Amino acid sequence: MGSSSLTVLPSTKPTPIPTHEEDLQNQSTSLLSFSTDSLDCPSKPQKPTTTIIFIALLLITCVALSAATAFAFLFYSSPSSSSSPLPSASLESTARSLKKLSKPVVLLISSDGFRFGYQFKTPTPNIDRLIANGTEAEKGLIPVFPTLTFPNHYSIVTGLYPAYHGIINNYFVDPYTGEGFNMGSHEPKWWLGEPLWETVVNHGFKAATYFWPGSEVKKGSWSCPESFCMNYNGSVPFEERVDAVLGYFDMPTTEIPVFLTLYFEDPDHQGHQVGPDDPEITEAVARIDRMIGRLIDGLEKRGVFEDVTIIMVGDHGMVGTCDKKVIALDDLASWIEIPSQWVQSYSPLLAIRPPSGIAPSDVAAKMNEGLESGKVDNGKNLKVYLKEELPSRLHYVASNRISPIIGLIGEGFKVEQKRTKRNECGGAHGYDNAIFSMRTIFIGHGPQFARGRKVPSFENIQIYNLITSILKIQGAPNNGSASFPMSVLLPSHQ
Ligand SMILES: [Zn+2]
Repeated sequence: MGSSSLTVLPSTKPTPIPTHEEDLQNQSTSLLSFSTDSLDCPSKPQKPTTTIIFIALLLITCVALSAATAFAFLFYSSPSSSSSPLPSASLESTARSLKKLSKPVVLLISSDGFRFGYQFKTPTPNIDRLIANGTEAEKGLIPVFPTLTFPNHYSIVTGLYPAYHGIINNYFVDPYTGEGFNMGSHEPKWWLGEPLWETVVNHGFKAATYFWPGSEVKKGSWSCPESFCMNYNGSVPFEERVDAVLGYFDMPTTEIPVFLTLYFEDPDHQGHQVGPDDPEITEAVARIDRMIGRLIDGLEKRGVFEDVTIIMVGDHGMVGTCDKKVIALDDLASWIEIPSQWVQSYSPLLAIRPPSGIAPSDVAAKMNEGLESGKVDNGKNLKVYLKEELPSRLHYVASNRISPIIGLIGEGFKVEQKRTKRNECGGAHGYDNAIFSMRTIFIGHGPQFARGRKVPSFENIQIYNLITSILKIQGAPNNGSASFPMSVLLPSHQ
């Protein structure tokens, strides 16, 4: 960690290219200054010909100005749904002030496995309303590698890559103690870094978690207090979760938690079973949209919808998989035998830890020889690396919990120990985060998010700094860029 590790993908650097609303502002300013200059002129004595030319110019200016205004109107009104007020992005330069709340409040919502693009599958009027009146990552949010649920959710709330926050997979074994981590492990030794609920409590504020990986871990100043920290139970109806979060806004203003989480398992759940292009996904997405509608409704009834900052994200995307796209480790036996005991995880993150005495570099070299030979079915869709030799953009090396050998699997392919006669299709995630199908959504709605604004894609490790910036609290050191929030948020009033 520290400043040396504040590395981000080139595409995730705060980009100085003008956004749509900045473009429009510049355009309006130049048109306005031109017409103002022109309007000064008639008070001065003019020669007749000069006056005629001047009037002609003035008319042309007016026509151009009207056309520009009409174009801007069409441009900005098109993405908004009929129920949404016209986004006024071009007029906003500073954050809107709070009407009812006494301080900023951030509600962080995760819809698990909400692949970028799912919002186009079916009408999603409520999500559309957040997008039209908020700021969206135009081509989606980039998850961290591996694009799995626990590593990503914990990166979102710590600003750290998995190698630094310790949750390097949904399941893994500590090589020193031999102990296994799974998604029910709540001992603090597994969970490194400082999650947002801990940062918030450190500053003397309240946080409330309605499910989030890591939220039940009692660590530092976070004690997972009863009634502010729900123990995970996947059978709690989504409506109940939304209503419970709304209940916090019935507390006296000074008591309302400043940071809240809300988690839905869908549409990840369906995505694994049927893949991303099944009608079941469409229905799951529509249901998530109804939950967002229920939330907006409840916040509006309490008069705080415009005050509360809603950040809606997913943890990763989803891609279709089928059993004919399998790479079987047993097919590599002519080059090297890989016993299942060496394999920490198969797919879509292949992680192999050979026993001491067997050089990982030899194993990787022999595996790649077999895979590249053309004699292994689908072999070209797997490449294994010593973790130190993985592309640096994956940031997947600096933890001894990460196995020495990591395989990058082609999009939609699976690695298994042996071939089977199964012939199923489903969905998976966990692949290289450069694969577009692994992207998810980012929508920010609230006083510091410009309405109708689109920002370039960024990695989810930037969200920690974004939230501490909105809450105006000092965050813990992390892998995000300190200047990122300025590139996305409206500046506060002076
Ligand atoms: Zn997930």
